[in-house]
Amino acid sequence: MQKGILVVVSGFSGAGKGTVMNRLVESHDDYALSISATSRLPRPNEKEGVNYFFKTREEFESMISRDELIEYAEYVGNYYGTPKSFVEERLNEGKNVLLEIEIQGAMKVKSTFPEAILIFIMPPSASELKRRLVGRSTESTEEIDRRMNRAVQESQGIEYYDFILVNDDVDRCAARLHGIVEAVSCTSRRQAGFIERIRQELKEMAGGAE
Ligand code: 5GP
Repeated sequence: MQKGILVVVSGFSGAGKGTVMNRLVESHDDYALSISATSRLPRPNEKEGVNYFFKTREEFESMISRDELIEYAEYVGNYYGTPKSFVEERLNEGKNVLLEIEIQGAMKVKSTFPEAILIFIMPPSASELKRRLVGRSTESTEEIDRRMNRAVQESQGIEYYDFILVNDDVDRCAARLHGIVEAVSCTSRRQAGFIERIRQELKEMAGGAE
C-alpha cells in the first residue's frame, strides 16, 4: 500500500483553516486529522480528544522529554505539539494526514519529513481576518490584538510554504486543497515503486529480446 501524504496546513488565527480541513475530512475518507496536544485552556465548545488533548504545562513538558511529539512550539504563551504515534500509524495505513500547526512547527516538520507538503491558508484580506477574529467572540480584545500581531510576524515566513490558498469560500478552498494532494500523489517521486514494478513487468514480458 502507498504510504499517505503528510500535509501541513498553517494560516493566521482566524483564517478558517480548521473549517476547511474539517470539510475535507468529511467529504473524503482517505484523510485523517491529527489531534494536537496543547497547554492552552479549552474554549467553551471544545472537547478533549476531539479538538485537542488538553494538558498542563508539566504534562506537556513530560511529553517533550519522552520524545512523544513530532514537533512542538510555543504560540502566544502556550505549548502546542503533534503526537507522533497517531501520525505514523495513519500514514502507514495509507491515509493523508493533515497537521494544522503554526509556522515554527511547520518548519520543523519540513526538516524532519522533507516529503511533507506545506500549505498556507490566507484570508482574502487583513480586514476580513480581523472581522473573523472579532466575530468568533471566543477571544478577549487583548488576545485578538496578540493574534493580529502574531499574524504580522508569521507573514514573514509565508514564502517557505509550497502552496498558498485563499479561503474566500470553504468548499472551494477544500476542493483546491484536495486537488493539490491529488497532484502530489501523482508525482514521479511518489510513484517510484509503481514505476519500478512496471519496468520489471515490461522486462519480463519482453522476454529479454533486444
Ligand atoms: P488555537 O489556540 O487558535 O487553537 O491555535 C493557535 C495556533 O496553534 C494555530 O496557529 C494552530 O495552527 C497552532 N497549532 C495547533 N496545534 C499545533 C501543534 O500541534 N503544533 C504547532 N506547532 N502548532 C499548533
